[in-house]
Amino acid sequence: RKFVYDFSEGNKDLKDLLGGKGANLAEMTNLGLPVPPGFTITTEACKAYLASGEAPSALRDEVGSHLAALEGKMGKKLGQADDPLLVSVRSGAKFSMPGMMDTVLNIGLSDASVEGLAAQAGDERFAWDSYRRLIQMFGDTVLGIDGELFADALETAKNSRGVTTDVDLTADDLRGLVEEFKGIVVRETGREFPQEPREQMDLAIRAVFDSWNGDRAKLYRRQERIPHDLGTAVNVCSMVFGNLGPDSGTGVAFTRDPASGQQGVYGDYLQNAQGEDVVAGIRNTVPLAELEQLDKKSYDELMQIMETLETHYRDLCDIEFTIERGKLWMLQTRVGKRTAAAAFRIATQLVDQGLIDEPEALKRVTGGQLAQLMFPRFDNGAKGEQIGWGIAASPGAAVGKAVFDSYTAIKWSRSGEKVILIRRETNPDDLDGMIAAEGILTSRGGKTSHAAVVARGMGKTCVCGAEELEVDTKRRRLTAPGGAVIDEGDTVSIDGSTGKVYAGEVPVVPSPVVEYFEGRMHAGADDADELVKAVHRIMAYADRVRRLRVRANADNAEDASRARRFGAQGIGLCRTEHMFLGERRELVERLILADTEVERKEALGALLPLQKDDFVELFEAMDGLPVTVRLLDPPLHEFLPDITELSVRVALAESRREPHENELRLLQAVHRLHEQNPMLGLRGVRLGLVIPGLFTMQVRAIAEAAAERIGAKGDPRAEIMIPLVGTVQELEIVREEAEQVIAAVEREHGVELTLALGTMIELPRAALTAGQIAECADFFSFGTNDLTQTVWGFSRDDVEASFFTAYLEKGIFGVSPFETIDKDGVGKLVRDAAAAGRASRPGLKLGVCGEHGGDPDSVHFFHEAGLDYVSCSPFRIPVARLEAGRAAA
Ligand code: ADP
Ligand code: MG
Ligand code: MG
Repeated sequence: RKFVYDFSEGNKDLKDLLGGKGANLAEMTNLGLPVPPGFTITTEACKAYLASGEAPSALRDEVGSHLAALEGKMGKKLGQADDPLLVSVRSGAKFSMPGMMDTVLNIGLSDASVEGLAAQAGDERFAWDSYRRLIQMFGDTVLGIDGELFADALETAKNSRGVTTDVDLTADDLRGLVEEFKGIVVRETGREFPQEPREQMDLAIRAVFDSWNGDRAKLYRRQERIPHDLGTAVNVCSMVFGNLGPDSGTGVAFTRDPASGQQGVYGDYLQNAQGEDVVAGIRNTVPLAELEQLDKKSYDELMQIMETLETHYRDLCDIEFTIERGKLWMLQTRVGKRTAAAAFRIATQLVDQGLIDEPEALKRVTGGQLAQLMFPRFDNGAKGEQIGWGIAASPGAAVGKAVFDSYTAIKWSRSGEKVILIRRETNPDDLDGMIAAEGILTSRGGKTSHAAVVARGMGKTCVCGAEELEVDTKRRRLTAPGGAVIDEGDTVSIDGSTGKVYAGEVPVVPSPVVEYFEGRMHAGADDADELVKAVHRIMAYADRVRRLRVRANADNAEDASRARRFGAQGIGLCRTEHMFLGERRELVERLILADTEVERKEALGALLPLQKDDFVELFEAMDGLPVTVRLLDPPLHEFLPDITELSVRVALAESRREPHENELRLLQAVHRLHEQNPMLGLRGVRLGLVIPGLFTMQVRAIAEAAAERIGAKGDPRAEIMIPLVGTVQELEIVREEAEQVIAAVEREHGVELTLALGTMIELPRAALTAGQIAECADFFSFGTNDLTQTVWGFSRDDVEASFFTAYLEKGIFGVSPFETIDKDGVGKLVRDAAAAGRASRPGLKLGVCGEHGGDPDSVHFFHEAGLDYVSCSPFRIPVARLEAGRAAA
């Protein structure tokens, strides 16, 4: 095994072995660009060192021979007293990682060689500046000395000389500073600063290896799901000097603007400086364009190189360079980070330049970036009075009057007010209030709290867990730690992208991308926003290649129409329980309380026309496209009053000897239906089997609505979906009843209906017996929310508050399995059930409904699992379309 590669031996595809920095230094070297010679110690060497605690002896020898070769090439030896070769030791893992050791520059300088360097350069100041930098960086990063000690000493030196920047210190000042720094090293470590050049280099290399297992690096890897066994490479690079006077300097550059994607000259340059000075902000940098005046030759060469790199990498690159006495050196490049807007623009620009094709363009953007572009933002220039902050749970910017309960939220919004719903935390009862509000602010709960999850699903701005804000719902008041008070009706602004909370109104600009999807802005118009044009093109690429269809979760005509504008190809989940809320709650109460057949039929009879009208509207909005209607799913008690409240009411009435017969009956029913664990209780198909006539009423409503649409020359494509099935027997019973009802409606209306009847797969047993279930189902829709809940044994409503934070921190999972599908567990069931289902019924249609349908990673998984469609909330549809395209590209 070879542990060390000369820069000329590697290339950009060897990132696993040489790390990102090393692979790209090699690539530039082989492109003939001016890279200071050097070599890279592989990640394999790091792994061997970490496994045994000792550098393998072969490594020492190989480093020795590569160093000798480098010395030969440079014509001087590392730390040679009269003319020292100096090197930098730089870490470089496959993924750039905070927590890894910082670069140490000027290795090879010592009390002896600093004089030689001064003589060679004809510049004493430069030599002593380089030496003090070495001790400072080495002391801090290799010896672990508190960097403040050096920084303070430097500050004191500047003050006592009455100067403000380091360039104003003379050679003598710096010589004195070196003595002081060496004193700090002895005091802090009990040893002299190492004078032996090879020892300096070996200690630095070892420190890079060790930093792989530093606490911060480990934590970062767990969070980012970077494997712990990759190891880091180490780059040893001969030094070039940007601190050799005004004709030297160091800078950073981008081949195009990482904020907008515009081509041009972007970067910063700092004269007479070394290393991180340019980003550390110790002196004022100048815009890169000014380098043209300072050093035209180097500037022109840099522009030429930037073009070479862009063409070669076929992407935006960022660059670190140094100029030593008018000679340009390239010290790093990589494909650069960019904003979401720039990602879309750059991808289409590169297609136009012929550098990449359409499938490649799709890979250059992500659904996450598109989602970011879809939220309104606070006007960049605007300022507000920030009174606190919480977790940025669902991005966007929202402004409105503070309200502290859902009832007020609904009432005020009906009268045209914009409101922000402020709660300690939200629960399902707040749903209507959340819909009515512009944004939601809570003082409790994290990224997967009810408020956060529901808000994200609705594309609504949400800041949650703003713990320092005291929410007093009784007094309808929010109090900030600084003493600011928001009362009901006061205006507040919340930023769901940063978590900031402001008193008063901060101006908001709508997202041009949403204006485009809504059809209010046209990509074809001459003055169309460049970003909108780019999004339009990328979406077209995605739609052209994707195999997964995308449907919406929608329960009303308004959502359905929006979903259609956003590109939905049907409805994958219409939750009928949402149609039972509000004024209809009373009808449901009557149904539950019915003692006699007659009472029950009456209640069902009252619900039927209302349900039918809902469906007529929905089928009309989705005319010609499939609409999957799920029969009633949630536990019945959700439609009944709170048990404690009701008990109190009954007890009070009793003590006052007031009539309370109805309350008492209600209370008995609530008791009868009370469950310790409602999510595992009487819900879904179980309800349908226990309450006679409930499901048949719903099926009848669907069938009659379809018949009515056909009568109106429409093209309804309803699909009836049975929730929470665990065994095929349940489905058989429901199916038989449903078929009778459908046949009856056909007779009554003289029409022929084609209503598919399928099931959700959301219980492990259903997935495990999918082969049997498929014999009785026209389609499967994987309910991955419940499936995740039941496969893991996690209560979705509780885990967030109790232990998810700890699990995420400990890295047990990098992301909640409710957010991104757990491929190994839940995903395996999905794949197996899909295969078993199709084996017993070829052509079985397979879909997914639930949060995962709009999650980028999960969409890729569903594509690979061979499903036919995903269904997600209307706002997530463009993201799902894009990711489905990316998965297929
Ligand atoms: P990072 O990973 O933080 O970017 P680098 O290894 O790129 O760290 O080093 C930081 C900076 O140090 C570089 O941008 C460059 O300015 C300087 N540097 C590193 N190696 C050399 C070298 N051989 N000669 C001159 N400057 C160097
Ligand atoms: Mg760098
Ligand atoms: Mg479910």
